[in-house]
Amino acid sequence: MLKNKLSSVLLASGLMAASALSQAVEVVNVYSYRQPFLVEPLFAEFSKDTGIEVNMVFAKKGLSERLEREGQLSPADLVLTTDISRLMNLVEKDLSQPVDSQSINNDIPAQYRDPEGEWFALTKRVRNIYSTKRSDKPEGITYDDLADPKYKGKICTRSGKNAYNVGLVAAYVAHNGEEATKEWLQGFKENLARRPQGNDRAQVKAIKEGVCDLSIGNSYYFGKMMTNEEQRPWAESVYINFPDQKGHGSHVNVSGMVLTKHAPNKDNAVKLMEFLASEKAQATFAEVNMEYPVNPDVPVSEMVASWGAFKSDDLPVYKLAENYATAQKLLDEVRFDL
Ligand code: FE
Repeated sequence: MLKNKLSSVLLASGLMAASALSQAVEVVNVYSYRQPFLVEPLFAEFSKDTGIEVNMVFAKKGLSERLEREGQLSPADLVLTTDISRLMNLVEKDLSQPVDSQSINNDIPAQYRDPEGEWFALTKRVRNIYSTKRSDKPEGITYDDLADPKYKGKICTRSGKNAYNVGLVAAYVAHNGEEATKEWLQGFKENLARRPQGNDRAQVKAIKEGVCDLSIGNSYYFGKMMTNEEQRPWAESVYINFPDQKGHGSHVNVSGMVLTKHAPNKDNAVKLMEFLASEKAQATFAEVNMEYPVNPDVPVSEMVASWGAFKSDDLPVYKLAENYATAQKLLDEVRFDL
């Protein structure tokens, strides 16, 4: 008897919970490695257009591990991240599901999405060579030049373990093979002015301070330094160079999105994905973080446009992920950071 009463109470409360859910607002839950300042304006626009609320968990690390741990019970619908290796890692761990959306496929060129629809790039990020204004802007600079003995003791960079650098080395492997890459890395290392350290912007600061003449860094940091009072003089002390214009073109990595395998709000998540690929959202990406939109109909920001047009490497980005482990191995072998 007691048992029956108990179960009917449970049933009633279960029903109440169910009806509360059905009355709840529409939501989509995002795990984001991308910073709030960048994605929050996008989510606000999306919510305004659709009435769908976006909940976000932001972290610099560990979100894919969290997704894996949570399994089928994960509340996450969508993961936003930088770097193709991280996007493909989610797919390899079977944490993604495919999306077949005509609207997304129209907005994102084939080179920047998975043929099976498991991941989609949203922005392109160029790896540049910054050079000191104490000398003339180098003509036709290449990534190969980083290993040229004429730059001995003149180059600064962040760690070889950083994903931006591993991505660049992975592209070099894809184009030139393992052996040539190792040789290049040895020459590059011999040209370093100091042990790899700090972030991309710290290298430009070091150029200003006379520690080195060249550094590698992503292009959007040039814009970020230019709009930061303390860092502006660093940026003003260098030229931004787009390498390999007569060769493969400048190295490009991406940021992107993945629909989670167990997305509880799948329809809403796909709507958000379609929005992020749309002209409206892509323009916000271009403006707020000074990245290059993957949607070819969207112009870059005014400041980014002022750095000039350039040819980017059209190596399909999944090739970077394919060569990522090899790149890491070679960086270790030459003891790049030591
Ligand atoms: Fe960055």
